[in-house]
Amino acid sequence: MSPFANASILITGAASGIGAATASLLAQRGAKKLILADRDEDRLADFAFSLPCERALLIGDVADETLWRGADLTGVTHALVNAGVADGKPIGEMEFADWRRVMSVNLDGAFLTLRTAMRAMKSSGGAIVLTASVAGVKAEPGIAAYGASKAAVIQLARIAAKEGAPDGIRVNAIAPGGVETPIWSSMPFFADMVMDMGSEAAAFEAMGKIATPMRRYAKPEEIAEQIAFLLSDKAAFVTGACLVSDGGYSL
Ligand code: NAD
Repeated sequence: MSPFANASILITGAASGIGAATASLLAQRGAKKLILADRDEDRLADFAFSLPCERALLIGDVADETLWRGADLTGVTHALVNAGVADGKPIGEMEFADWRRVMSVNLDGAFLTLRTAMRAMKSSGGAIVLTASVAGVKAEPGIAAYGASKAAVIQLARIAAKEGAPDGIRVNAIAPGGVETPIWSSMPFFADMVMDMGSEAAAFEAMGKIATPMRRYAKPEEIAEQIAFLLSDKAAFVTGACLVSDGGYSL
């Protein structure tokens, strides 16, 4: 039997990057239903159309409590808490609004998603993965809001794992290093690199060589495989863990 047969899986940030790669993988692995959340309605609708399983779309901001009040997660068995945004300013140059924007999506949004999933799983158990980042493990200049939000996500997963264990709910985090997804296009320095080098592929190749011992960034499909492992029964005794998947960047 396929590992996710009869599974009903919530994925936030599902229209792009890691979320979309995970949705595709879990649909291939037999998921019965995907509940896909994103604020990019057009992109999500186009993407969801291609998936070979039942799907429900939740359109809106994951940090908006009303989105979750209206969400029907009856029967949900798994969740990927994944929607996120990046920033790239030193603390001294950051406006409070920049800080709040990142904290709102990455931390408030993660909390609201996690709470909704845990409530829905309370009587029947389940498995949840939160997408953190190696930026929550390793300090680097220029990523204060992002790094602090992701460090908090790792601790949120650990606390949720302890709270969820009596109800049969496993909760883990994944902390990717650089992954080749559209999130980088929101960073001005990356846009400059793409202009200088002529393509995103060339910019990713150059970035991978800067500080990652394995000298490359990951593809979103690789991270999706690791998320699928943490969500699956193969990881049945794993809870409260943070899987760092960074090509050695944090070493
Ligand atoms: P992405 O930009 O390709 O996808 C993020 C998705 O989240 C987009 O579809 C976007 O519309 C959605 N989103 C953003 N804010 C939202 C909100 N408020 N409400 C609903 N949807 C929202 O980026 P990605 O790289 O796939 O990022 C997924 C997760 O992985 C993020 O949490 C990110 O921080 C994390 N991550 C990414 C990398 C990387 O290098 N790409 C590394 C470590 C961690």
